[in-house]
Amino acid sequence: MRKRTYFCPGCGKEITKDEEFCFDCKPRDELEFKEANIKFCLNCDKLNILNNWGRFDTFEEAVEQALKKSIKSKDYDITEIIIPEVERKPGLNLEAEAKIIFDEQEFTVPIEIQVTTCPACSKINDQYLEGILQLRNCKPEISDYVFNYVEKFKDKGVNINNHKEVVGGEDFVFNNKKVMRRLAQQMKRKFPHTEFKEAAQHFSQDKDGRVIYRLNILFRQ
Ligand SMILES: [Zn+2]
Ligand SMILES: [Zn+2]
Repeated sequence: MRKRTYFCPGCGKEITKDEEFCFDCKPRDELEFKEANIKFCLNCDKLNILNNWGRFDTFEEAVEQALKKSIKSKDYDITEIIIPEVERKPGLNLEAEAKIIFDEQEFTVPIEIQVTTCPACSKINDQYLEGILQLRNCKPEISDYVFNYVEKFKDKGVNINNHKEVVGGEDFVFNNKKVMRRLAQQMKRKFPHTEFKEAAQHFSQDKDGRVIYRLNILFRQ
């Protein structure tokens, strides 16, 4: 008995019984997606996807999450995620992209990354909870200690808003005087024989008329 042959209605190439078209002529679905958008807080490293701030280990992880929301189909594979170097510059907009395989075709989905400050961090920065830690004639290890200590409170939005070298030492401007005071207590224990001076200085008044003090702490070795 002669085997029946089947042909592609698109190009006439021979196809198998189960195929409707050949591989090249098969009608394919377009990938439906919206441009994905991620916000990055330059202060606490949190990432925002669809108005939710959260913590991710890597940008790739955040991109995968964002793609889930921006691509309509669930039936796709990510082959590559390309992320440019993210600099901590407020207002910076970066274009990342993901290569997606969907219905046997490759698509490129753009992902915008905006560098900004999350609401929690900008609130803390606005609160005038200021303190100035002054190191005078101190060994570099003390300065390192300050930076390492603050690093541990980054999650809570604690930050050194300004660090400058001045005559005879350096000044650290803190956005959280409670943490600064705790740090100073630790430093007193860790680096004895250091001159330590604390002074609260009338700074400004808040909306309800309460007086806000700026805390100055001086260390001299
Ligand atoms: Zn064909
Ligand atoms: Zn933040």
